[in-house]
This record gives sequence, structure tokens and C-alpha cells, in this order.
Amino acid sequence: MAETAEVVIIGGGIVGSSVAYHLTERGCREVLVVEREAHQGKGSTGKSMGGVRAQFSTPVNVQMSRYSIDFFSKFDEVVGYPADYRPHGYLFVATSERHLDYLKANRERQAAMGVTNVALVSREEIEEIVPQLRTDDVVGGTFCPTDGFVDPHSVMMGFMRRARERGARLWLDTRVTGIEVESGRVAAAETTRGRIATGVVVNCAGAWAAGVAAMAGAELPVEPLRRQLVPTEPFDRLPQRFPMVIDMTTGFHFRREGLGILLAWNDPEETPGFKTDFDPAFVEKILTRAASRVPVLADAQVNASRAWAGLYEMTPDHHAIIGQSPDVRGLYFANGFSGHGVMHSPATGRVVAETILDGRATLLDAAPLGVERFAEGRLLEETALL
Ligand SMILES: Cc1cc2nc3c(=O)[nH]c(=O)nc-3n(C[C@H](O)[C@H](O)[C@H](O)COP(=O)(O)OP(=O)(O)OC[C@H]3O[C@@H](n4cnc5c(N)ncnc54)[C@H](O)[C@@H]3O)c2cc1C
Repeated sequence: MAETAEVVIIGGGIVGSSVAYHLTERGCREVLVVEREAHQGKGSTGKSMGGVRAQFSTPVNVQMSRYSIDFFSKFDEVVGYPADYRPHGYLFVATSERHLDYLKANRERQAAMGVTNVALVSREEIEEIVPQLRTDDVVGGTFCPTDGFVDPHSVMMGFMRRARERGARLWLDTRVTGIEVESGRVAAAETTRGRIATGVVVNCAGAWAAGVAAMAGAELPVEPLRRQLVPTEPFDRLPQRFPMVIDMTTGFHFRREGLGILLAWNDPEETPGFKTDFDPAFVEKILTRAASRVPVLADAQVNASRAWAGLYEMTPDHHAIIGQSPDVRGLYFANGFSGHGVMHSPATGRVVAETILDGRATLLDAAPLGVERFAEGRLLEETALL
């Protein structure tokens, strides 16, 4: 018998899982998620740092975060699965007046969007939060106590489990190989398990999204960019609990991960491409930045074989692309999160479900996130990129 589905979701990462959850929550039962790997989470979701923050610079990103963080805070109750949301905060540390002015301006924008708990903090207050920081050059910062961390794998599994309880299907080990378009509309998805007749396909293919869009003849400006994370061995010279700390001088940031510390830095020399191997030379680069801001980290032990790399899914303006393709009706995008797909997954699932089922989102005005913005020159610049 020929397979049919009301909606086919390509990709079973955190975003595909959230879209499945939100569609089934709204009563859409014929949802089929197609994932090429044998397990969920083998794309970027399983590589993520799990950071969630409302401290962004554009209204749409602040709105996405505000809804999503509130959702994470109730996730266990609502979804029936742990999100492991830890509101330990994000602390941005500025070492120049220019950076401090930028944080102050962002704080006002965040407050205008209803995020009113971002505090301006002095050097002395920063020293109280993390006494081990070198602060001789610090001029201040901002701290938001409801920012923090989640467990991306657990969130993904929770979304998918609830979606399946409500009737969604998940095909693992199945690759989407083509999207059939008839008279400008989606007609079917072709997979290694056969053809699925459908009028709606949602592209949730993460860093691989441009290739999936091309299957339908659509252009999607999403590029893979490697990101590397380095965990230290057990380290007790930093507090058990402290926020994500961002050194704005270098972009180096870190947080506690179990007994050790998880170190992150955006290497400006990285070039786009599907590179998922960890480069051992990165260890020295990041440890230099780490020891400069947190002198005790000079004594941290690192085993490079425990470090890893994954892919950010970058767009030209570092904002997600969410909405229907203007060229192919029935093809929806939930792509290009530029490194924020975990934290924005709840809002994305809701916006996509509403757009498919009602023709428009009520959560927020999603029009600025449409792919049309690139052709029309309406780019959104997010400067608070980590
Ligand atoms: C090192 C690192 C740190 C990060 N830290 C953070 C953070 O702190 N906070 C945050 O919010 N975000 C972070 N991110 C970004 C975040 O991980 C991603 O934005 C998010 O996981 C994207 O989810 P996704 O479901 O869209 O993509 P993915 O998890 O990549 O899922 C896409 C899925 O699509 C499948 N797929 C692709 N093509 C096909 C096909 N043809 N057929 C079938 N299946 C297909 C893939 O196998 C994959 O499972 C980080 C990313 C990295 C790499």
C-alpha cells in the first residue's frame, strides 16, 4: 500500500521533534518524521552545549527565547520528560566601554520585549559571582538569572516521545532522497523506504538543510560551520554552580559540566564546510584564551580525545529561516539557527505548527524570518552571536 502522511518532517533532531510535538498537540495525527540515522541526535543536537539565553539583540530572537525558556521551565510537567533546565544564568563580561554600551542597549531592547530581569553588574559584582575571573580590565557586564542550560538530548526525546504517543510516526535509518513537486506544490517525499504521498514537507535537516531544499528546487542560504567544544577533566577550583560566563574580549565562554568545565570559543579562522573532526590544535588555542581570563584554568587537564566538533547551521544574517517557501507551496523551513536551535526549538515548533495549520503564527510575527528576506534585502543582524 502506498504510504501517505499529512505532514512529513525531514530530520529527527530537536527541531524536527519539536515540530512533531507541536503539530500533534494541535490534533494533527498524520505526522511522519524521517531520520536517516539509526538514532536521533546524531546531527548538531547531540553536539550542543545546551545553553539557553534571552540576552539577544534583536526583538525576534528575544521573543523566541522568552517563550522557549518559559517552556523549558515547565517542560517536565507539560511534556512528561526531563529538560534538565538549570537556571544558572549567563554572565556577559565587558572589558571595553564599547562592549558595555552594547550590553546596555541590548538590555533595553530585552526589557522592551518583556525580559525585565537582566541586571547590569559592576566589576565587584562579577567578582562575587565568579571570584576566579581576572578582572583588572573588566568594566562591567550583564547577568540574566533565568538564562542557563538544558539537556538537548532529553528535550529532543521528550518532544518525540509525546508526539509518538499522540500518533506521530518516526522512521529511523531512512534517508529522504527527493521531494516531488507538481505545479509548484509538494506532492511527495521520496525515501530509501519508498515514496510518501504528502502535501506538506517540513525541512528540519539542520546543517544539511540547503541540500534538502534543493531536492525541491528551492534555494536556502544555510551553510555548515564547524564548532568545537573542549571539556576539562574533573576540576574543583571553580565553583560547583556558576553561570555561563562570556568574555567579550575574545568570545571565550565556559560553564560547568558535571565535575569538569566545558570550554567554548568561536575560532574566527574556521571556514564553512561539513567538517566534524576535532582539530587537536584547537586545544592550545582555547586554553590560551581560558587561562587569560580564568588563571586557575591554566592548571586544568584536557584529554583531547574527549573533545568534539559539530556543525552550526549559518545564515547570512545569523537568524533562523522559518516559514513556507515562496517558490514551492507546502514546503516549510525550520532551519538556519546559526547555533541557537536548541534554545529556540520550543518557539520554532509552535510557530511552524501554527503556520502550517492556521496559515499564520500567533506566538510572534514570523514574517521577518521568511527566506524572502534575503532576496528582498531585509536582513536582520544578530550581533550577540556565540
Ligand atoms: C558545538 C556546538 C555547540 C552548540 N551549542 C548550542 C547552545 O549552547 N545552545 C543552542 O541553542 N544551540 C547550540 N548549538 C546549535 C544547536 O545544536 C543546533 O542549532 C540544533 O541542534 C539544530 O537542531 P536541528 O534539529 O535543526 O538539527 P540536527 O540536530 O542537526 O538534526 C537534523 C537531522 O536531520 C537529519 N537529516 C539530514 N538530512 C536528512 C535526509 N536527507 N533524510 C533524513 N534525515 C536527514 C540528520 O541526520 C539530523 O539528525 C550548538 C551546536 C554545536 C555544533
